[in-house]
Amino acid sequence: MQGVGFRPYVYRLAQECALTGSVFNDGDGVEIELQGVRTAEFVQRLSSEAPPLVLITELREEKLELRSEEIDFRIIPSESTAVQSAMIPADVATCEDCLTEMRDPADRRHRYPFTNCTNCGPRYTITASIPYDRPSTSMTKFPMCEDCAREYHDPADRRFHAQPNACPVCGPQLRFVRNARLHGCDVELEKDAALHAAQKEVAEGRILALRGLGGYHLAVDARDERAVHLLRIRKHRYKKPLAVMVRDVEAARRICETDAEEETLLASAQRPIVILRLREGHGIAPSVSLDNPTLGVMLPYTPLHHLLLDGEADMLVMTSGNVSEEPICIRRGEAAERLGDIADAFLHHDREILQRCDDSVFRVIDGTARPVRRARSYVPRPVLLAEEGPAVLAAGAEQKNTACVTRGRAAFLTQHIGDLENFETLAFFEESVAHLMDIYAITPVAVAHDLHPDYLGTQWARGSLESPLQQRLDGRPRIPVQHHHAHLVSCLAEHGRADEDAIGVILDGTGYGDDGTIWGGEFLTGSARGFTRAGHFLPVRMPGANAAVREPWRMAFAYLEAALGDEAQAAFPSWYARRSEKEIEAARFALAGDLNAPRTSSCGRLFDAVASLAGLQDVVDFEAQAAIALEFAAAAAISDCARPYGTEALEEEGSPIVLSFLPAIREIVKDLSVGISAPTVAARFHFSVVAGCVDAVERIAAHSGLRTVALSGGSFQNALLLEGLRRALTERHFTVLTHAQVPSNDGGVALGQAVIAQQRMKG
Ligand code: ZN
Ligand code: ZN
Ligand code: FE
Repeated sequence: MQGVGFRPYVYRLAQECALTGSVFNDGDGVEIELQGVRTAEFVQRLSSEAPPLVLITELREEKLELRSEEIDFRIIPSESTAVQSAMIPADVATCEDCLTEMRDPADRRHRYPFTNCTNCGPRYTITASIPYDRPSTSMTKFPMCEDCAREYHDPADRRFHAQPNACPVCGPQLRFVRNARLHGCDVELEKDAALHAAQKEVAEGRILALRGLGGYHLAVDARDERAVHLLRIRKHRYKKPLAVMVRDVEAARRICETDAEEETLLASAQRPIVILRLREGHGIAPSVSLDNPTLGVMLPYTPLHHLLLDGEADMLVMTSGNVSEEPICIRRGEAAERLGDIADAFLHHDREILQRCDDSVFRVIDGTARPVRRARSYVPRPVLLAEEGPAVLAAGAEQKNTACVTRGRAAFLTQHIGDLENFETLAFFEESVAHLMDIYAITPVAVAHDLHPDYLGTQWARGSLESPLQQRLDGRPRIPVQHHHAHLVSCLAEHGRADEDAIGVILDGTGYGDDGTIWGGEFLTGSARGFTRAGHFLPVRMPGANAAVREPWRMAFAYLEAALGDEAQAAFPSWYARRSEKEIEAARFALAGDLNAPRTSSCGRLFDAVASLAGLQDVVDFEAQAAIALEFAAAAAISDCARPYGTEALEEEGSPIVLSFLPAIREIVKDLSVGISAPTVAARFHFSVVAGCVDAVERIAAHSGLRTVALSGGSFQNALLLEGLRRALTERHFTVLTHAQVPSNDGGVALGQAVIAQQRMKG
């Protein structure tokens, strides 16, 4: 692997073991030739003492005939064509050594915001092409000064072959610009003066757009309610939680509860946003995380972040620098234009960002770090598959899109692209796919896509949109993949078991079923070879179709009518009182006339319905908001003695098991009518989803003999559901597979599509 200090490390280790020979990249990895006595010691230490970023996936040893005696140990430079399968490293957070230098007034990099070394710094986001060395990065326009060049060429130096190596003499610099569009006056400052002005800007409650690693961030003081509110108004992001950057683990601990796993993740070299539980008296402005007991927290990952947080405002909201629904800005002009109505000032720098990358987001559930969004510092690290397969491209799903290309055993997912619902995002998608194909010299033999005919990704994959990339895919077969089958296989593939049959419990929002209806609470059996729909949640109508996604009360209405029929209103007058007669009439009309009311077995829509019944959320501003509210309500009341509500499994010879939650809905209405609290109802409801799913799984296991269960789908971002179901199934001696490498939500779908397409192409 390049750019993680492997070859310099090999060099030093060889010196220490008094060995001669060479190291070079042979196209599929690193080849080391050794001559001398202590080769066994070398091999043993190679893995055990490897630098933190080195991942040795396979080590092969071979005895060679002596051709000529080597007198030293050499690093043989790589030729660009030979290293195409060697991997471009992901970005790495600033290391302790670099921070120490940056804080040392005697060091030549004192307070230099672009300090980096062989072990840390920008990688993927500054790389245009391979091989990964300085001329292919945006550092090419900064010729190294003598001091930097000396470090770069000295095998004993910790900056040996550090491609982005820079210092205040030769490297990138900061520039602070007051936004003339909002403030009339132009102020331009450089270097340390720029940094101080930026610190002052946030300390005084203004909005700063700063150029980071994978794009621009919008930053405000996280304790300043007025500033946070202003940011929401200007960004048109009214409800969705915002993430906060704090100085260190200690600071995170003061505002949130953290366990060892969460602290490790926070301080890791990847430094993702970690979703944590807020503490009482945390001091964070209420608008940061509205109606939400959790907070996304991250630690600084560039020297610039560390310097910025040394200012008066040491807890900053850091949100992607974009206009809602559009990709994050990376270019200076783009930021000035698109963020011109949001930011009061800009902190630019002149090291170009070549790959857009949002921050990655994780949540620790059941002691394991689970990706919610996989982007900066994780891309382009591949998911390793069980075996080699043909090169394929998968276009992914619509929401939280990522695409995937494979080569050999490696599956490379793009960074999180966003919802593929507009042409800006589609352009970002194309850019990212083309980039992965270029850097790994991948020519896909097939293109996989979702079944949904309306998805932009599907239309793109079918070649019905104008696209330069399509010419390179001309004539390749297109492979449609059912959405929940892709979810199942993405989970299996993470565990290297994509060709073994398993039971998939896929609890999801919505996806297109192979019968043309909307699926989402699915029990599948199968593998990458194919699947059977062994069971599903009882389908209910969605009055108003897509309107029902934004307005959970519509799903509550549909469930009430399905569970209680004509008696619904009399049974639960307080719920009906919250809606106008007109709304109810329109919904009733939709249901009765079978108009604009498609059936869905979605799990997400069931959660929406219960959230509305419990009075938590009748209308949502962002995806999954109601389900999140229900989870948090339940978390407040969860106790081991909570009883599940009733569910019913309807089995009929030759057709899928139908899991009905209508008995639960009737009990919920009863409970709420006699004043049982929403948290208690929410907790009992969670238990009933777990119990219902366990029941269905046991029935399917009895028929099929399968004992492995894969849990996937967006609903498994819900900690209570994932934990509850995993434990219950484990207790019943099932082998339970869950996601830890790709998101369980639609951000992981591309992986499943790719592996299914590979299987299809193998025949
Ligand atoms: Zn470093
Ligand atoms: Zn320099
Ligand atoms: Fe999905």
